[in-house]
Amino acid sequence: MPIPHRRAITPRTLSHQESLWIQEIVANNPRWKRVDLSNTQVIAECDCGKCKTVYLSSPLPHQPGLEGTKGYIGRIEIVTFDEFLITVTLDQQDGKLGELYVDPLDLREPGDRLLAESWVEKSHTVTAM
Ligand SMILES: [Zn+2]
Repeated sequence: MPIPHRRAITPRTLSHQESLWIQEIVANNPRWKRVDLSNTQVIAECDCGKCKTVYLSSPLPHQPGLEGTKGYIGRIEIVTFDEFLITVTLDQQDGKLGELYVDPLDLREPGDRLLAESWVEKSHTVTAM
């Protein structure tokens, strides 16, 4: 089934921010902490206009032996001083990094602001999944 709002793009390398988030999540998961991200590219983005979710691709599995499996690797939760909760979740499919789900939730009423280009973190927690 097609994923709503998933839009293919010309493959590009990870942004600095995406790379930092992925490295932080894998470093926190014992099974994934030794992955090499150098061949990982962004091949699609979400175009819903609110989130910053990207879809990843790599020529070889980051983690052999996981063919046929799918699951979450970990999650970061960031609360900003301008009152957003940004949830960053990384998953894998067949041993390859799959989706970096980046969802900002506006904690102020009425909750319809868009996330600014930059923010200052009030809290930052990483959880392995
Ligand atoms: Zn989206």
